[in-house]
Amino acid sequence: MDAKQCRICRSNTRLRPSGSVVCGSNVYQCNNCAGWFLHPEVQVDYMQSDWGGRRLQSFAAMSERVRPRARAVARVAESILGRKVESVLEIGCASGYLGAAMRDLGFRYVGIDVDRDGVNSANAHGISAQELPAERAAELGDRFDLVISLDVLEHVQSPLDAFKAIANVSQGVAIICVPNPDGLMARLRSFDTIQWLAMKALGNSRHIVRSLDGHWHNIAYSRRTLELLCEQADLDVILLRSMSINDPTFGIVEPNTSLSYRVIDILSMAFGMGPELLLVAKPKSLALGCEALRPLGKINQQ
Ligand SMILES: [Zn+2]
Repeated sequence: MDAKQCRICRSNTRLRPSGSVVCGSNVYQCNNCAGWFLHPEVQVDYMQSDWGGRRLQSFAAMSERVRPRARAVARVAESILGRKVESVLEIGCASGYLGAAMRDLGFRYVGIDVDRDGVNSANAHGISAQELPAERAAELGDRFDLVISLDVLEHVQSPLDAFKAIANVSQGVAIICVPNPDGLMARLRSFDTIQWLAMKALGNSRHIVRSLDGHWHNIAYSRRTLELLCEQADLDVILLRSMSINDPTFGIVEPNTSLSYRVIDILSMAFGMGPELLLVAKPKSLALGCEALRPLGKINQQ
């Protein structure tokens, strides 16, 4: 059956099947928001993901590795806000390894995640975390200077509700990273031969179209999708650009420093088609002074 409504912006017009099939579902692009989604929706069982288990194994090393980046991310938020960041909410906190770094740096940190193993791991490390999906973040009844969500929103059931929840819990800056469906590799993989080569080279069987794989990624956000969702959720876009997964500040989740990947990465970034999109936003109701916005020139050039 054809898709009747865009899963992302909820538009019910101009939905276009791409002709590609992933995990038995059709890949659609919405001409209203330019986002990509799978129809029928593929149900993800996060408890089978083993993300929490994998994170648990290397918790101390990962927390140590991300500490300089945690500090750098907070500095970016502080330079935009023009004041100190005291509270941090991470949407999709996994085992809380970034939370441990944030807590050790003196921030009041709260994490949420749908992966119970991850939340249990975070709690076992003394980190404040709850089992809660992004869309229900407002149930925390709290507001945060920095809301951060790294490679998480491509997994959610309802992107619009997730963005509205982010606006609701934010009293400062929201920093969001998602895979880029318009990235160089994401585009090239729409060709069957390159798809096959990529699967061979990476040694796995993930069939990926525009960053959708039907296992974890059921939604893909283009730049226009992110702008539209921010508009619908009363968020102002401060910065939106493509990003390397090895970004010196925001490349926290899964950096890949292999030579072959770095070559592709350098090429992608040279064309402005990095594998990730970085969005920095703030609630429309929050006023920022000109002074506070000045450091953004530097961030934009990175
Ligand atoms: Zn749409």
